[in-house]
Amino acid sequence: MYRTHTCGELRISNVGTEVKLAGWVQTLRKFGSITFVDLRDRYGITQLLFNESLNKSLDATPVGREYVIQVAGKVLERSNKNAKLPTGDIEIEVTEFAIMNVSNIPPFTIEDDTDGGDELRMKYRYLDLRRSPLRQNLELRYKVNRSVRNYLDGQGFWDIETPFLIKSTPEGARDFVVPSRMNEGQFYALPQSPQTFKQLLMISGYDRYYQLVKCFRDEDLRADRQPEFTQVDCEMSFVEQEDILNIFEGLFKHVFKDVKGVEITEAFPRITWDDAMWHYGNDKPDLRIDFKIKNAKVKKEVFCNVLNTVDFKVFNDAETILAIAVPGASEYTRKQTDELTEWVKRPQIGMSGVVYIKCNTDGTYKSSVDKFFTEEKLKEFASFCGAQIGDLILILAGAEARTRKAMSELRLEMGQRLGLRDHAIYMPLWVIDFPLFEYDEENNTWAARHHPFTAPKPEHVELMNWPDRFGEIKANAYDIVLNGTEIGGGSIRIFQRDLQEKMFAALGLSREEAYEKFGFLLGAFEYGAPPHGGIAFGFDRLCALLGGQESIRDFIAFPKNNAGRDMMLDAPSAIDEKQLKELKLKVNI
Ligand code: ASP
Repeated sequence: MYRTHTCGELRISNVGTEVKLAGWVQTLRKFGSITFVDLRDRYGITQLLFNESLNKSLDATPVGREYVIQVAGKVLERSNKNAKLPTGDIEIEVTEFAIMNVSNIPPFTIEDDTDGGDELRMKYRYLDLRRSPLRQNLELRYKVNRSVRNYLDGQGFWDIETPFLIKSTPEGARDFVVPSRMNEGQFYALPQSPQTFKQLLMISGYDRYYQLVKCFRDEDLRADRQPEFTQVDCEMSFVEQEDILNIFEGLFKHVFKDVKGVEITEAFPRITWDDAMWHYGNDKPDLRIDFKIKNAKVKKEVFCNVLNTVDFKVFNDAETILAIAVPGASEYTRKQTDELTEWVKRPQIGMSGVVYIKCNTDGTYKSSVDKFFTEEKLKEFASFCGAQIGDLILILAGAEARTRKAMSELRLEMGQRLGLRDHAIYMPLWVIDFPLFEYDEENNTWAARHHPFTAPKPEHVELMNWPDRFGEIKANAYDIVLNGTEIGGGSIRIFQRDLQEKMFAALGLSREEAYEKFGFLLGAFEYGAPPHGGIAFGFDRLCALLGGQESIRDFIAFPKNNAGRDMMLDAPSAIDEKQLKELKLKVNI
């Protein structure tokens, strides 16, 4: 028997017991004739004591960091207890030990705070995974996985696998493709999601489906994206949007409670897409920040009367003027407001400046535009913003889209500065009523905002006949947002062949192209397709949020770096001539 206990298990109640432990040497500390070794495994760390007699054998067969050893000994109460370790009350007085395997000196320290840089740790991921922060992340991931499965199982969902070698699924990214040896010159695509399969399963009658499934999207990688990631993918038949929102709200509540002990009893707020854009400037509002955007002027329409009475060219000329009243920030110094001006001028934000009004605690108003606004008018503007004494009003003016985006960023930034974006607070919500289409300026076409299988709201189906009114069509499409991050989304689907054909046509696909790409689905709609809808959410990101961290990478055992490379495998890499020949491929670079 290698071990009787794990390295995280022994407590004061075990004192006197003869035990065997096995694990990795975390540290060795020699004190004259005795040596302490911290032995580590997945469960924790236990201190070993090599007394005088064994120390000699230790000198004869030295043990180093990350050696795998096995020891036998007796549990003793420690005189010098370590309250930080669950096993900190005891130590093992070693009577026998054996080295199971030696180790090179690791390229970075395997401690909570390591000295290893990102790339080095990615290269030796198997060593990085020995560190407790990563181990805790993977443990959390497993707990979320189990919790999701338990809930869905309880709701009658079946986990059904779908293939990876498929034909393209349009989720808006580029496909990864795989050449087929048996079908010369032809390629599979890896699924961007199991979208069409889950719809086919509905047609087969499996009315509650789910899967924790890998999805593959060949996108330019932003900081927090992975080319392969995990989705919790779900679909249901004979449901309306309301049913889906309820079931999945239940899922999130279950997971928050189960994994984090966070109980949310109220219903998640629901905000329409239009309202989200209006009040927050984006479709994934962070509700932990409790101040909203005030729309003083939007696309030349003035909502704040006082603007009609002030002659200030910047405001007169602006298409849109937006404001936020930041609580308790009226004390901002000149230096701080100057710094905010620099912040909005950064190319990512792209504004030429920010106007501020301080609602001072002594009841006076002071602004960066005192030349144009009397104090009375500042007060009126402040009252339009619903500002309180002590608030700092920040105003951006310019073209609609850019100003709204900039204000959305500024609101988040101020929330951050005020310490409102606390990881331990959970503010989930649903964003509903998404537009069905969005205009793709680059290609001059309409594109599906979610994907081409999303149904228009029944009352908007008629508008599908009028391309100039596509922008007005709303869908029963929804996103679930947590703390300013979109963690999932879905929709009620089209299940009639003629409407699906109309949708493909609206997206610029000819009938032939539509049948070439999606003939299987259009054909299936001819055999009794039930009404259905579903949702998918990003499992990696949900885990990261529950772990209170920004990066999904640390919640994936073997992730890729920002360039989509696996540093450990050194992949992607060239393949040999023989393989290329078999596949009838020529590399042309
Ligand atoms: N397939 C969609 C996605 O990956 C989710 C869905 O509509 O269920 O975003």
